This record gives sequence, C-alpha cells and structure tokens, in this order.
Amino acid sequence: MRAFTYAALPMRVVFGPGSLARLPEEVAALGLTRVLVLCSPEQEATGHQVAAALGDRSAGVLAEARMHVPVEVAHRAQALAAELGADGCVAVGGGSAVGLGKAIALEHGLPVIAVPTTYAGSEMTPVWGLTADGVKKTGRDPRVLPVSVVYDPELTLTLPVPMTVTSGFNAVAHAVEGLYAPDATPVVSLMAAEGARALLGALPRIVADPVDLDARGDAQYGAWLCGAVLGATTMSLHHKLCHALGGTLDLPHAPTHTVVLPHALAYNTPAAPDAVTALGLGPAPARALWDLAGDLGAPRSLADLGMIEADIDRIADLVVGNPYANPRPVTREGVRRLIGAAWSGDSPT
Ligand code: NAD
Repeated sequence: MRAFTYAALPMRVVFGPGSLARLPEEVAALGLTRVLVLCSPEQEATGHQVAAALGDRSAGVLAEARMHVPVEVAHRAQALAAELGADGCVAVGGGSAVGLGKAIALEHGLPVIAVPTTYAGSEMTPVWGLTADGVKKTGRDPRVLPVSVVYDPELTLTLPVPMTVTSGFNAVAHAVEGLYAPDATPVVSLMAAEGARALLGALPRIVADPVDLDARGDAQYGAWLCGAVLGATTMSLHHKLCHALGGTLDLPHAPTHTVVLPHALAYNTPAAPDAVTALGLGPAPARALWDLAGDLGAPRSLADLGMIEADIDRIADLVVGNPYANPRPVTREGVRRLIGAAWSGDSPT
C-alpha cells in the first residue's frame, strides 16, 4: 500500500425520505434566526415550500440561481442577504443553487445549509465558482463548504429522467477520478467504489420507475458519497475536459460529463488498474459505462450537445495547456483522439 495523508472535511449529513421536515431543527441548532432561501426559477415552488417550513426563521426566497453562478446574480444575492439581515442561507436545488449559496458565503461568511435535489455533489465540496464575461473562475475556500446537508430523496422524485441519468453520471465521474487521484486515500476510495456502485445500480431502476423512492434514495446515497470524493481529492483529465467544454463552449454540465466519462476512463484504464478493480465493472469499465448510458437513453456524442467539429482542436489545446496530475501522461495527440471519439459518439477504445 502506498503512503497517504488523510484529512476529513467537517460535514454534517441528515439523510432519508421526509428529512426536509428536519430542516427547521438544523437551522435552529446552528443558532440561525433569519435564513435566505435560494433556488432556481424552475424550483421557486420548492423554495417557498422550504421557506414556509422554516416559518419565522425564513428571511425570504431568492429564485434566481443559474448554472455557473453569473457574477451579476451573485451580486444581487449578496446585496439581498445584507439588506434582509440574513444570518445564513438555505440552498435548495442542484449545483446552481448551492453555488449561489457559496457565492454569498464567500462574500459575507454566512453559513450555508444545502438541500440537494440533483446528484451534482457541490454540497460536499469547498469549491466555489463565479462566471464573469463568459469566463468561469473557481477556487477553494473552507467557508463555502455547507455546514449541514439535508438529503431528502422525496425532493428528487420530480427530477426528470434524462436529467437524473446525466446527473448520476456526473456523480460517478467524481468517483472514477477519485479512485485514481494523486491524493487518493483508502477511506475515500471505499466511498468512491460504494458511491459508484449505489448510483449505477439505482439509475436503471429510476428509469424503469421514476417515483421508486427506494431507488431515488440509493441514488442520493451514492451522490453523497461521490460528492464527498469530489471534495476530498484532486480531479484529473476528465474534469479538466468537462471544465473546458462547459466554460469555453457553454455545453450543458451533466450531459457533457456523461458523454466524456467513458472516453476519459478508457484513456486512463491502462494506467489505473486499481481503479478498474474497485469499480467492479469488469476489465473494460469504460465500455460498460458507455453501454449503460446508451441503455438509459443518455446522450453519447458531443456533436449532439451542440459542439462543432472545428472546436475539437481548440479544446485539445486548452486541456494540454496546463499540466496536472493524471494516471496516464496527457498528450496532445491522445487528447485529440479522445475528444474526437466523444464528439462523434464512437464507442470508447
Ligand atoms: P442545476 O442546479 O443547474 O439544475 C438543473 C435544472 O434542474 C434547474 O432548472 C433546476 O431547477 C432543476 N432541478 C434540480 N433539481 C430538480 C428536481 N428535483 N426536480 C425538478 N427540477 C430540478 O444543475 P446541476 O447539474 O445540479 O448543477 C450544475 C452546476 O453545479 C454547474 O454550474 C456546475 O459547475 C456546478 N457544480 C459545482 C460543484 C462544486 O463543487 N463547486 C460540483 C458539481 C457541480
């Protein structure tokens, strides 16, 4: 076994069907008396449901969360939190709502309580992101890590099946890269293997019956573990590729992860035998994920997500521009081939 350093992130998790009812206790236990509820416009009704449950402890609802946290939205949220005298935020929704809570935490140091309704995993990480003039800046700051996370699978019953599948693959991508991360540790690797197992087992059951609460619970349990892996390890080629594709070409976050993951894993498979074993998907896990994505009706080509062929070289240049840890050396030619295959929807090799 190789040497490692393990530092646990402070995290408090309340999990289970109906656990939204415990949110007021969580807010009170933290001594918060006026929290601002954040959500996306599409989930405004859920935001108001949460605010109603909080009663006097709710300072209001801001339903303006957007993908990649545009800086104008962050400024409005920061100003509103100050104007209302909020002493904390409750972010209800996916990575966009949690990201907005993090933007307020970064500016005012207010604690964030997250109530995740997708499988993106942002609630488990100290990573923030802000987008100005089409450029997304990210950073790590312990103040943005949510102080409490309430996972209620009942809130995920409404997540449309296509989004469920791609969000699930987004989470599995964290587990995959956590397994071969330069700072992988035995505990986090166990979480990664278990998280991927739970999610990949749950997704076909959800596609068969989107309101199967047990399957939704298993998926969210997997998402928690995969998110914790994202927060604990350094991501490699796959996440760099998705960051470049999302940031430069504005491709949708979770579908991009879904298309790229089998190809990035195929690229790294020869150099990451322990990760392959831990995933338990046989000797060709990349092909297994690609097949599963197809069976579940997920997108498998970047062209279908709106990327034009001429951008393949541009993204390849970006991804090899800065060095980062990856189990297999990242070459321009190898990355060009990987993106080309993901663009055309070929099976991973
Ligand atoms: P999202 O939060 O943008 O949600 C997508 C859409 O789904 C929204 O319209 C939302 O309202 C809707 N939705 C969410 N849950 C729903 C539900 N249960 N029922 C019905 N509709 C629902 O998408 P996402 O994929 O969760 O998050 C993506 C964003 O999160 C990106 O900006 C990404 O960069 C960021 N992210 C950050 C981290 C981090 O560690 N900082 C980690 C993962 C993702």
